Amino acid sequence: MKALVTGGAGFIGSHLCERLLNKKWRVSAIDNLSTGSIENIKRLEHNKGFHFIMNDIMNEKVMARLIKNSDIVFHLAAAVGVKYIIDNPLDSIRTNVKGTEIILELANAIEKKKVVLASTSEVYGKDRPGKKCFRENDDRVMGSTTITRWSYACTKALDEFLALAYWREKKLPVIIVRFFNTCGPRQTGRYGMVIPRFIKQALLNKPITVYGDGGQTRCFLYIDDAVNAVTGLVNEPEAVGEVFNVGNPESITILNLAKKIKKFTNSSSKIEFVPYERAYEKGFEDMRHRKPDISKIKTFINFSPQVHIDELLKRTIKFFQK
Ligand code: UDP
Repeated sequence: MKALVTGGAGFIGSHLCERLLNKKWRVSAIDNLSTGSIENIKRLEHNKGFHFIMNDIMNEKVMARLIKNSDIVFHLAAAVGVKYIIDNPLDSIRTNVKGTEIILELANAIEKKKVVLASTSEVYGKDRPGKKCFRENDDRVMGSTTITRWSYACTKALDEFLALAYWREKKLPVIIVRFFNTCGPRQTGRYGMVIPRFIKQALLNKPITVYGDGGQTRCFLYIDDAVNAVTGLVNEPEAVGEVFNVGNPESITILNLAKKIKKFTNSSSKIEFVPYERAYEKGFEDMRHRKPDISKIKTFINFSPQVHIDELLKRTIKFFQK
């Protein structure tokens, strides 16, 4: 099989490329290195089945050639990280909307190639009182357009609508995966992600910056589990035209996360509480709780996360220590 991975030098993309190569696939990875890095794919460069193209998914000519030469497209190229989106709103919207449209249109025009679209738990928007976890067909609650964060959720929701429309109208085979807080080696904290930020702060004995009161909860999925989910779904014909939560329902408060990381790194860092408005922008809105219901993906491919939070943290800390 020949795969095209957009965003192949990114955190999830580079791990996916590695797994596909291990399965003896041929892999082309395209990345404009806006948030991805060459370092992420260094170990793949010697592999004869791997081909890296430093270019932009907006380049239709290049994309047409790459899609033509592939059996399946894993579309992971997107603006990532709450901080990145707030700092680069225009670029984020354009990449997520226009980039995805180009890929779906070309995949449809060129022999209806299968597309796996990476989406996000952000599409659920705000949590609501009494709601324990999110299911794929739940309502979504978005904040005002004046709050930049919500643009990300809206653009990814639009990507999902577009992919589902291509499936319904044109029979383009698409699979949509909504990743919930995926973590592990090679993830950078530069764009806001909490675990790499806390680990780096702890290892440098600098204050660990907990935003808000730290009572907000998240569920963290280890990267290998995320890749298991994606590779499992592409082999399941019934998954076509469907949306799946990809996450680990085990939840933790951000304050407890900070405490665990401090303990596992033997750090002398103090835990510092930072108001959201100072961390992000005025009027910033955070989700208090976010937890996936993974019964759908369990039913389809018998998926269940193998790596729990302590092990996830230990493996990620080891990577940062190196
Ligand atoms: N967060 C934090 N300190 C940081 C970075 C993030 O307390 O240095 C919090 C953030 O406000 C959110 C949670 O950690 O409540 C997860 O943030 P992340 O950006 O990793 O993912 P999100 O779930 O917001 O997309």
